[in-house]
Amino acid sequence: MRIKNLPQVPLGGKQAFESLMDATMTNPLQSILSERDWLLTDGATGTNLFNMGLSSGEAPEFWNTDRPAEIRRLHAAAVEAGSDLFLTNSFGANASRLKLHGAAHRAHELSKAAAELGRDVADAAGRDVIVAGSMGPTGEIMAPVGSLTHEAAVEMFHEQAAGLKDGGADVIWVETISSPEEFLAAAEACALAGIAWCGTMSFDTAGRTMMGVTSNSLAALVEKISPGPTAFGANCGVGASDLVRTVLGFSGAGLPIIAKGNAGIPKYSNGCIHYDGTPDLMADYAALVRDAGATIIGGCCGTTPAHIGKMREALETRPRGPRPSPEEIEARLGRFSSASDGTRPGAAPKRERRGRRRAAVQPPRAPGPLPERSRAPERETGAELEPHCS
Ligand SMILES: [Zn+2]
Repeated sequence: MRIKNLPQVPLGGKQAFESLMDATMTNPLQSILSERDWLLTDGATGTNLFNMGLSSGEAPEFWNTDRPAEIRRLHAAAVEAGSDLFLTNSFGANASRLKLHGAAHRAHELSKAAAELGRDVADAAGRDVIVAGSMGPTGEIMAPVGSLTHEAAVEMFHEQAAGLKDGGADVIWVETISSPEEFLAAAEACALAGIAWCGTMSFDTAGRTMMGVTSNSLAALVEKISPGPTAFGANCGVGASDLVRTVLGFSGAGLPIIAKGNAGIPKYSNGCIHYDGTPDLMADYAALVRDAGATIIGGCCGTTPAHIGKMREALETRPRGPRPSPEEIEARLGRFSSASDGTRPGAAPKRERRGRRRAAVQPPRAPGPLPERSRAPERETGAELEPHCS
């Protein structure tokens, strides 16, 4: 049990504290981390489901009940390639995202089904494999910039976290988050549900998240949260190079660091997104991001079982090296998307201005269940789910 993270005033009050005591006593991810000095996660969910026939605009979470064999096959492929941890197919299984598909009422059901499918595969693996219950963003912009209140966000995430826990997830995996407010709401929901959690943000805007969070500021934020995450870090974003640079900025938080980078840089062609990172590049990335300080290492968009297999081989066979310099990262993995990692004061506009500017340049949307101004730009939540042809 990690005594230092027990709260003085726990998120969510007495109920959360009692749940927390339960969660801290039974956290399989902490157990496996105490025995290993690195863990390999899975790769993409969206990319691989598109490769299995998911169509653009279709909610992948429906496959948890409509095509469960395909979801089991997705997880089994990751485990067979060497993943020690994989994410459930529940990224968008919150009421706000499902509402776009007329299925807001299915958040708990689809989350539970996602975890049950993951549990089936992990329990049949013959070795320790962690089922991490994926929770992506709500897709709405939170107050004070947007209109989604903290209470409403906590309620949505709580429903999803409870479903994932009921289905047997070992830990909740909050991912692709841009704003501190949404990160905190998800953390509180996990406390209410009584399950341990991990959290990653997507640093896709010149080294910062879309809402202006830097690597340094996320590291400072996680230290203040009680109950804190079991591990924290970065996922998705731009390319493998940027992600390793972001990990350099996390050092000092005193928690295991997660690195889940995309397989190269997304490029549009013929209406689809392709990722140009080869399995050999992702092998280099895996070794380099471990040298940069990451403990839980994996891929995001574009990462297939072939990439995961090469990453496993690299982590098992290559010796650890010194912490890489930015120059070395660029030389090994390719150019950064921006000159700065965003941590210098004034390196990017203030987040309120950024949020408004981003929202203002979004293309018009069809009339939907939520006011235009309250919904986050599609890229924030759709990054995992855009059409991929390969
Ligand atoms: Zn991604």
